[in-house]
Amino acid sequence: MTDFSDILETARRAQRNRPTTGELAKIFLRYHDAVLARQSELLDVIQKETGKARGHAFDEVLDVAITSRHYAHIAAKTLKTRRKKGALPVLTRTVVERDPVGVVGIISPWNYPLSLTMSDAIPALLAGNAVVLKPDSKTPETALLAAEMLFEAGLPRDLFQVVPGSGATVGQAIAHNCDYLMFTGSTATGRKLGAIAGERLIGYSAELGGKNPLIVDESADLAKAAEVAAQACFANSGQLCISIERIYVHRAIAQEFTEAFVKRTQEMKVGVGGWEYDMGILISEEHATKVHEFVEDAVAKGARVLAGGIPPEGRLYQPTILVDVPEDARVKREEVFGPLVYLETVDSMDEAVARANDTDYGLNASVVAKPSVARRIASRLHAGTVNINEGFAAAWASIDAPMGGWKASGLGRRHGVEGLLKFTESRTVAEQRLVLISGGKIVERETYAQVMSTALKLGRKFL
Ligand code: NAP
Repeated sequence: MTDFSDILETARRAQRNRPTTGELAKIFLRYHDAVLARQSELLDVIQKETGKARGHAFDEVLDVAITSRHYAHIAAKTLKTRRKKGALPVLTRTVVERDPVGVVGIISPWNYPLSLTMSDAIPALLAGNAVVLKPDSKTPETALLAAEMLFEAGLPRDLFQVVPGSGATVGQAIAHNCDYLMFTGSTATGRKLGAIAGERLIGYSAELGGKNPLIVDESADLAKAAEVAAQACFANSGQLCISIERIYVHRAIAQEFTEAFVKRTQEMKVGVGGWEYDMGILISEEHATKVHEFVEDAVAKGARVLAGGIPPEGRLYQPTILVDVPEDARVKREEVFGPLVYLETVDSMDEAVARANDTDYGLNASVVAKPSVARRIASRLHAGTVNINEGFAAAWASIDAPMGGWKASGLGRRHGVEGLLKFTESRTVAEQRLVLISGGKIVERETYAQVMSTALKLGRKFL
């Protein structure tokens, strides 16, 4: 790695000389077009690095295009100076200005090497910052190609530096030197980086792990429920923070749903290659072994396998469904991050909600039910996103709405205006006219107190 102080100095210089928000917006609209036009290059490198199915690699291209377009369109409007209600009507003129924080550090994981590197870099850059990004050591090439396309779209190179390397070296250097830290990865690492951000008193967002539940009510359309479950549990081979790892199904339809879900799962085409595959291979043999250990542990303690559950063939692990998982099995509460889900039967939606919320995590949840029932259930779930009649994609792709985790699933939000404004500092400028707020020498203290009390009473009625 080049000396990190050089990287930082380069970033600071580039940030001072950055393009205007309008110019940046044009660059990101060109970038939107470029990632769509050159998608096959991106898909090839994502697949080479991760082994995911081409369809799931395409989700990343789509995500980056949507994010570029969205923030390019809203940045200037969202960042502009805004009038606020002043302390005293007419006499106080108050505005809020926004400045970039400076250098945003991004540390990202391997599972979505295009999405999770670029979807935070885009708003951070549009907010006027320089970005220093550390991609995961397993997937640097995707990030480097994505950055190259951005430079070709017109972004000054020094404004966005991709620095491959380990978390222990580059990740730590970023955390100890940036002005705002954006992290996506495990809860364990998120806590360590949070401690550094806390010590340095810099802003910090963390998108961490999950143990996401899916609730299937008796009002659900069964075929739809089975399809939603298969997508929700096995997309990207379950290596997705918002994947479903637990299903709670109403007893009235439990048997039929289970049969439909098992059948749909067993029909999935798993392997490496083109668009025809429903699910790819895992990131490494080591990870496939780790997933299988969860199954072995649960089965040894009494769980039954309804689909998959066979030892991995290299990096290939069949989508797996368990039932009768006992409380002390590791899979019950720990995040697996693989194509493994367990099913439980419930007698009511109250029970489903209670079980769904009984977790240290709170990232994503899904409900399959008649819409009126599903909405009532959704509003009781402790999760940053809830998808109705979808697993995760509806909320994730609703880029105008915030996305992030409750509890141990994270801190702060990406997407929406939150995902842009967090990369700024606000400055409230309040201009006082004619009289001081305290009355100054013009008004006696007692008179001032009476006037203010009357004004507050009137304000209580009218404002
Ligand atoms: P991880 O071990 O935390 O690694 C993620 C990134 O952090 C990698 O780039 C890694 O660098 C770096 N890193 C590790 N230790 C570090 C340290 N001490 N200081 C600075 N950087 C450090 O996560 P993972 O296990 O690879 O990824 C899977 C996890 O990410 C799962 O828990 C998943 O749920 C979560 N995730 C969350 C979201 C979300 O949006 N909520 C999205 C995707 C994934 P190396 O290159 O050295 O590994």
